[in-house]
Amino acid sequence: MGLFNMPTVVNNVETLANLPFIADSGGQAYAAIGTDRSKGTKLVCLDGHFNQPGLVEVEMGTPLRTVIDELGRGFRKPIKAMHIGGPLGGLVPVSKIDELTIDFDSFSKAGFLLGHASIVCIPEEYPLIEYLGHLFEFTAHESCGKCFPCRLGSTRGKEMIQKAKDGNYKMPKELFSDLLEALEIGSLCALGGGLPLPVRNALLYFKEELGPYFE
Ligand code: SF4
Repeated sequence: MGLFNMPTVVNNVETLANLPFIADSGGQAYAAIGTDRSKGTKLVCLDGHFNQPGLVEVEMGTPLRTVIDELGRGFRKPIKAMHIGGPLGGLVPVSKIDELTIDFDSFSKAGFLLGHASIVCIPEEYPLIEYLGHLFEFTAHESCGKCFPCRLGSTRGKEMIQKAKDGNYKMPKELFSDLLEALEIGSLCALGGGLPLPVRNALLYFKEELGPYFE
């Protein structure tokens, strides 16, 4: 039971946390913060690969470089990519840091997703194929099973990656691409539909590392 022993809708806590400021200062004051299309502030979660991990609040439009170097005090070890915006967010190579600002437009125009703006770092030495395998595994585990592109596709992808990791099997590029397309356009919700984004980012920016696993 929720509030007053009645069913209760619980909204995003980050959204609710903005309400006192808007109630006190008015909508105009809130709208004056951030960018034209991304108003207000964003909470950004920095993982343990930062010298100063934790949760920071920044104005929308803040350069990603500022978040990493000034608020997070840089990386503790060499990093090759950051998974930003949750498990189904984009995989951002470090070469793109200076092109991005913390707002929805900047990320979507560059082919990524700001999402909830958590930053999970992928160290230089960590194999991306392991990471992609984990993403498929996560989706297969979390899938509610309602639609088959997600229910079956996540498991088939997990199996393909596992076989390729074991050796003696190269993933057919066209089949893998068809799998991503089926997930993207055939899934009923963002779990199956969102998985292809980080996978495609990885295939685009880490061709050399992932190439040996494909035909
Ligand atoms: S995409 Fe969503 S609705 Fe479809 S099986 Fe996956 S979790 Fe369920």
